[in-house]
Amino acid sequence: MKYIGAHVSAQGGVENAPLNAHKIGATAFALFTKNQRQWVAKPLTAESIDAFRKNCDELGFQPFQILPHDSYLINLGNPDADGLQKSREAFLDEMQRCELLGLDRLNFHPGAHLNRITEEECIRLIAESINITLDKTKGVIAVIENTAGQGSNIGFRFEHLIRIIEQVDDKERVGVCIDTAHAYSAGYDLVSPGGFEKVFAEFDSVVGFQYLKGMHINDSKKELSSRVDRHDTLGNGTIGLGLFDKLMNDSRFDGIPLILETPDEDRWAEEIGMLKSMIR
Ligand SMILES: [Zn+2]
Ligand SMILES: [Zn+2]
Repeated sequence: MKYIGAHVSAQGGVENAPLNAHKIGATAFALFTKNQRQWVAKPLTAESIDAFRKNCDELGFQPFQILPHDSYLINLGNPDADGLQKSREAFLDEMQRCELLGLDRLNFHPGAHLNRITEEECIRLIAESINITLDKTKGVIAVIENTAGQGSNIGFRFEHLIRIIEQVDDKERVGVCIDTAHAYSAGYDLVSPGGFEKVFAEFDSVVGFQYLKGMHINDSKKELSSRVDRHDTLGNGTIGLGLFDKLMNDSRFDGIPLILETPDEDRWAEEIGMLKSMIR
């Protein structure tokens, strides 16, 4: 079964996210559980938590269909001690919010070395950050997203993802989310003939499908290997619809949230409908 949705607004309270997802015909959704551009947020209220759970129940969204995303400010591989500490505190808060909402996974970008430490040292800090957070929480999987490799971001190679996972103590609570636009920008050729098969065979041998806990379904405004992160509406970008048709007809992508992060939210309902119609 394919679960398809978008990163919807939680404005006015997290309880609005499932309502917004339902309105566009989604069977999965992503959300920010706090303002993604601020470090500190007010705690979730009991009313908001209850309403979120009730709305999810009534509209048929189970935890495995929901992929919350953490704040963009957090850098779990920050070479600066104060910056790292601040990030770890904010990440713990994000994880605890997921716990309160009854969610089972949290999607985040691994981190950036800021050209001050090696990739390997940054990866070690990220894994240490994950271990510290998992020790203090229960039931939420840390889902590492692949990146486009913009700036000094780690996570643009499948090898980065597995090297983080290898250093995480609780393998049951770590996973990955593959963003199609990021993968393409990072140099994974999902478009040319045989490319889809080759890239996901490589993913399976390097990381392993058992770790795949979600997908971000985006077209890209940028070329292969551009290392620039710019999403586009499905079919409008450099990736094109062929990849999405293949994803929709491949059982390796069943049972996880498949999330649009495309730029025109007025077209999400149409994009979700199109993805559903691709399933043969
Ligand atoms: Zn992301
Ligand atoms: Zn993404």
